[in-house]
Amino acid sequence: MSFQEEVKALKKRGDIVLVAHNYQIGPIQDAADYVGDSFGLAKKVTELDVENVVFCGVDFMAESALILNPEKTVIHPEPKARCPMAAMVDIGELRAFKRRNPDTAVVSYVNTNVETKAESHVCCTSSNAVKVVKSLEEHKVLFLPDRNLGDYIKRFVKDKEITLWEGYCGTHDNISVKSITELKDRYPDAEVLVHPECIPDVVDMADFVGSTAGMLKRAVESHAKRLIIGTEVDMGHRMRKEAPQKEFYFPGDPFCQNMKKITTHKVLRSLKELQPVVKIDRDLMERARKPLERMMDIGRGI
Ligand code: SF4
Repeated sequence: MSFQEEVKALKKRGDIVLVAHNYQIGPIQDAADYVGDSFGLAKKVTELDVENVVFCGVDFMAESALILNPEKTVIHPEPKARCPMAAMVDIGELRAFKRRNPDTAVVSYVNTNVETKAESHVCCTSSNAVKVVKSLEEHKVLFLPDRNLGDYIKRFVKDKEITLWEGYCGTHDNISVKSITELKDRYPDAEVLVHPECIPDVVDMADFVGSTAGMLKRAVESHAKRLIIGTEVDMGHRMRKEAPQKEFYFPGDPFCQNMKKITTHKVLRSLKELQPVVKIDRDLMERARKPLERMMDIGRGI
């Protein structure tokens, strides 16, 4: 039996949905019921009448799925698949900052662990970050953990004092001007799409800057036949499926080894055993849900 067939057979036995982040390997994306970005998937699960959610992504993504779906059982096939950028926030340091700066609003990217969210005023995604920061009454803002996304926000929000946490995503931070220039020299007609977690000099080279969902949409709609994509290399799997007539080039083949800790073997084991289950203390979960709800209210214009 192929991996896809085994997944299908195992899902039939239980009340299960399999979701996968855009940076998962191709076979896992192909077996999943839904593929998307972390917050999009967590929100999608809220619409589903299902008991068990097998979440293929890193730790904070599975946590967010549970925070928004506390009545469901969220299963993370490899708890050691942790995002190093989310881990760059030291809670003690964050609390000390808050004590020293009581007039500063803490805005955290959804790429943070549950403890960080619980200490935040509001969350944001890479697609709504500018809107969320602009909507705040506070003049002073601490943005965490990604200094590159924070720098991108600063380009559009000039009337606030924004302090950036010194975190970064190694996968995006390593995408270099040189690697994009080399591809651009080879394919001068190619359009450059990058994620705002890239360094500012790379963002400056882009024709389009956006979240993985935004980049996918642009890739499908663009008139360009060739596209240079500044994000994790397995995003190409989905792009090639949705725009098969186009060519996609990834500068330096950016790779997130944490995402790849989820393997087909571990997915099958999770579907069979409905383990390992994500567990979060109820009070912590309640506190972490509030900044996510505030973000969604801002999205709805409340
Ligand atoms: S790509 Fe970057 S932000 Fe995403 S999980 Fe990997 S390290 Fe974390």
